[in-house]
Formats: sequence, structure tokens, C-alpha cells
Amino acid sequence: MSRFRQINLLGLPYDQNGSYLRGPALAPDLIWQAFNSPSANTYNEQFEDLASFLSYDGSITIENFEKDIRDGIKKTLNRGQPLISLGGDHSVTYPTLLAHATKYPELSILHIDAHPDLYEDFEGNHYSHASPFARIMEAQLAQKLVQVGIRTATRHQHEQMKRYDVECIFMNQFQATQKIELKGPVFISLDIDVLDPAFAPGVSHYEPGGMSTRQLINFLQNQGHLNIIGADLVEYNPTRDVNGATAMVAAKLLKELATLILKSNE
Ligand code: MN
Ligand code: MN
Repeated sequence: MSRFRQINLLGLPYDQNGSYLRGPALAPDLIWQAFNSPSANTYNEQFEDLASFLSYDGSITIENFEKDIRDGIKKTLNRGQPLISLGGDHSVTYPTLLAHATKYPELSILHIDAHPDLYEDFEGNHYSHASPFARIMEAQLAQKLVQVGIRTATRHQHEQMKRYDVECIFMNQFQATQKIELKGPVFISLDIDVLDPAFAPGVSHYEPGGMSTRQLINFLQNQGHLNIIGADLVEYNPTRDVNGATAMVAAKLLKELATLILKSNE
């Protein structure tokens, strides 16, 4: 079914840049367990078994936040297959993009989140999970950033959007049928709190008025025209979950991201 034979999954068990709660460091292994749960199967909605395409390498050890994540992602990318990283809080996306941008200098980003994560810094933390896209844009790691599902932008963050020429589809304008227009290789950064907390209680920041799981899946399935070369799935917080329900949501979204990478257009 695919232009790639395999996608490598790498756990980034880091939550020290969260501004409110810890917990996402526990997420990677639990998402992989949910993907393999005997309560479900490993097929996507196109009758294809993803088990043979996904390989979980476990989690890397992170002592130096920027260097260890960047080098870990680089090492995995050097094996020649695309990668989906499992967070971790959203700060991991900056060092992740440091690695991807070396391989894909013309990269664009599709960022799906309740929050713009564009603070110049947050409570004095340059690497805060509220700031990764300010770091990414100031380092010019992406030629274009499109944000989807945003419903918490402050005046400062709105100014940051203008400063970095960010295209934003706010949640109150969102339609699952919308096709995003981006040229060249695209990285998807998916913060699970874009979903309404009713659908995904296992997150640190509850922001009501979000997408249903079905809306998000339909939106992702409508982006097959893009050349999606990698993704991350961040901000699942198992300490807030209810009976592992959000872990299953994360595993479902992992399937959708993997399917997009395997099938989207070059
Ligand atoms: Mn985020
Ligand atoms: Mn968020």
C-alpha cells in the first residue's frame, strides 16, 4: 500500500517543560500498549493492518533536552524510514524539528492544537511547551506554519502569528472537510488537547469547545493530497486519563498519522 515499508516510532518521555502538570513523560509506552491492546485490532479504516508497518523503538533517555532529542531523532531518521515521535509535552517538537529540518530544508508544518504554543517565552522558560513554535519559526526550521483548532490565542500570541506569517484556522472556523494547502514536505504536530476534553480527558489542559474524535479523524483523512513525511503525537497525560480511554484515542490517532505518511502524495 505504500511508498515506505516501515515507520519507526520513538518515545520522547519528557514533561519538564509543561507549565501546569507532569505526566506526559509516561505516555509513549502506554500509547504503544494501547495500539496493541487485545480490546481492539491494529487495522486502519481502509482495511489495512498497520502492525507490519510500525516498529516501536522504545523511549530515549533525555538528560540534555535539546541535544538528546535532536540526536535521538536524527539517529532514527538516518535509518532511512520516516518517524513518528510519541511525546512527551509539546516542547519536544522543537528539537524534533531541528532533526527533521536537516533532512528536509523546505519543510512546512501542520500544527493541530487547542493552543498556538507561540509564546516568546512562558513564565521565563524559553523551552516551555507553550513556546515550541516560536523557537521553530525564529530558527527558520519551517517555511510555513499552519495551525488548526486553536481556541486560546492571547493578544501576544496573535501578534506572534503575524510576526511569523502563521496561517491559523481557529476552532470557530474549523471544518473537517477543509483541505490544507501546503507545498513540499509536511510535518504534522498533533497535540491531543485539540480534542474536546469530553473525548480526551487524559490531557493536562482542558479547553472545552474542541473537536470530536471523528471530526479530527475525518480532517486527517482529508489531507492525503499533502506530502506528509513525519509527525509527532504529544500531550497525552496518563495521570488524567479515565480507564485508558485517551490512550485508545491516541492509538487511533497514531494509526491515522501512520496511514497518512504511508499513503500521502510525494
Ligand atoms: Mn501544544
Ligand atoms: Mn495544547
